[in-house]
Amino acid sequence: MTDIGRMLLFSHEDCLGHAEPPGHPEQAARLMAVERALAGFDLDRRAAPLAGRSEVLRCHPAGYVAQVEAAVPADGWSMLDGDTWLAPGSLTAALRAVGGVCAAVDAVLVGEAKRAFIACRPPGHHAETARAMGFCLFGSVAIAAKRALDHHRLSRVAVLDFDVHHGNGTQDLLWDESRAMFVSSHEMPLYPGTGAARETGAHGQVVNLPLRAGSGGAAMRAVWAPALARVRDFAPDLILVSAGFDAHADDPLASLEWEVEDFRWLTAAICDLADQVCGGRVVSALEGGYDLPALGASVAAHVDEMMRRA
Ligand SMILES: [Zn+2]
Repeated sequence: MTDIGRMLLFSHEDCLGHAEPPGHPEQAARLMAVERALAGFDLDRRAAPLAGRSEVLRCHPAGYVAQVEAAVPADGWSMLDGDTWLAPGSLTAALRAVGGVCAAVDAVLVGEAKRAFIACRPPGHHAETARAMGFCLFGSVAIAAKRALDHHRLSRVAVLDFDVHHGNGTQDLLWDESRAMFVSSHEMPLYPGTGAARETGAHGQVVNLPLRAGSGGAAMRAVWAPALARVRDFAPDLILVSAGFDAHADDPLASLEWEVEDFRWLTAAICDLADQVCGGRVVSALEGGYDLPALGASVAAHVDEMMRRA
């Protein structure tokens, strides 16, 4: 039997260099809170590599990549959309975030570990094909899904997104991709406004689970249990997770009112499913989560549950 190593944690200090304007919720302190929360964990810690241009081009046109590159300021900030800013270190940070998820997929698919968590920023799930939005530049998780399919030649992958905001970018990037099932739960109505249940993808492979403000953990479990059964029927070879923790009750940007134990329950359910369908392989990447204590506690529960079940 192959010896599977410890769970992997990909991060990089360059991801602190994506400095947002003062008062912006997507701040470098988020990553420091995550690092503190995971400090005592027995993880195989690796540096997130810079993604090559060819990886980004799996999902974004060259013209868009050039537009982002040209917008990077020499100092201060430049604005890509109403809430998405670039600092001098932002492009490097975003390429670490893409590279981290891709490297985690590579490591898990060659059997170095069953599970991986990527603690990088900026997040990615709002970035559309040629449009930065919602704090996101490149669709890191969708890019890694494409890499798993096209480079590693997997037949099917699933992307599960429990960030409180709809993963409109991931949905856009994978809309026509019959080999990638995308499931997103999110508060609705809320930014970015997409994610209605009637949005089902070009091949019926997109599953949206809108939840009402204040609906809490019970409503979450009620929609995710049948959705995970659908993922089981899809039989993915790998499960990717867009792990946002802004559905927590203390988060300032939303009001789904989940608790740490709800993130733990959902993580356990995802890992159990992975054990059944894909040899336990789960690659999970940080998306949102803006209350620092809640973010730290929720990430700790998420990673602890992934390790416990590895
Ligand atoms: Zn979010």
